[in-house]
Amino acid sequence: MPNLKHTIIYMAVSVMSLSATAQDLLANRAPSDRKLTDLKAVKINNTKAVIDLSNPAGDIYATWDNTSALVAPGTLPANFKVDLRGYAMPTTSRKVTSKYGPRWGKQHKGLDIKVYMGDTIYAAFDGKVRISKFNAGGWGYYLVIRHPNGLETLYGHLSRQLVKEDQIVRAGQPIGLGGATGKATGTHLHFETRLLGQAINPALLFDFESQDVTGDFYVVKNGTIQNSKKSAVASTLQVQSREPETVTLADRPQTQAEANTENQETNPDTPEPTAQKREVTYVVKDGDNLFRIAQNHGLTLDQLCRLNGLKPNSLIVRGQVLKCS
Ligand SMILES: [Zn+2]
Repeated sequence: MPNLKHTIIYMAVSVMSLSATAQDLLANRAPSDRKLTDLKAVKINNTKAVIDLSNPAGDIYATWDNTSALVAPGTLPANFKVDLRGYAMPTTSRKVTSKYGPRWGKQHKGLDIKVYMGDTIYAAFDGKVRISKFNAGGWGYYLVIRHPNGLETLYGHLSRQLVKEDQIVRAGQPIGLGGATGKATGTHLHFETRLLGQAINPALLFDFESQDVTGDFYVVKNGTIQNSKKSAVASTLQVQSREPETVTLADRPQTQAEANTENQETNPDTPEPTAQKREVTYVVKDGDNLFRIAQNHGLTLDQLCRLNGLKPNSLIVRGQVLKCS
């Protein structure tokens, strides 16, 4: 069958000589897909490093134990960068009913977010469950998860826990159900974020109203977390590239009993950090331009360019880190 053999050889040669674009068309996809696919591959390689979840952030935590929600405050490395990429919102609720900070003369070290009985609560990042316990006088059924980015997240007043201690969890995995266990008036999620035993205002990391994180990274300069009322507001303005106001005021009355309870939850010995200027950086995303980045950080285009040694028409690329203060 010489004719058929000839045809096969001819087809093979034809395919080999096709341009990349023509091959794309043969594969039934738009030529531009090739470029996109390549970019995606690069992104995955950059951000999806294989991380061992058996001992998350083992480089900064001396121990792993299931005894207490509190961790002895340790010394943070200078300029510690908390990687917020790969986050999931702990709840789809956008309503913050009580914010972080002083409340009736005490410190409320988390955010209260309105959830209803049985609402699914999700792990904020990949991690490992360190505590899954019951505290009748405070958080009720609660969880503490340690994450590779150094954070520990705490979820309180659950009606039920869905994970066990030492269990590895993934960001966005259901870990519990909303409730009002412990000392809580009304169902809500009490959500805390801590770094090496030090509380961070969760609103500096998570914007529940817009269901997003405040940026790709949260930078802790000189080992000092900025949570004092004045600097927390300043930090919020500097860190966020979106809406500066993240917390709304309480929409329900809270009893003094609950106020006391929330206070019991916290470590009263944590000193108020002193105000300190921090360097704020921004990681360029797709579709960004210098003008908008400047605007979002309260800078003029010229100021932003001067900080970074750029010209107004300089090209910026995704992943590029810009100084914004
Ligand atoms: Zn609370």
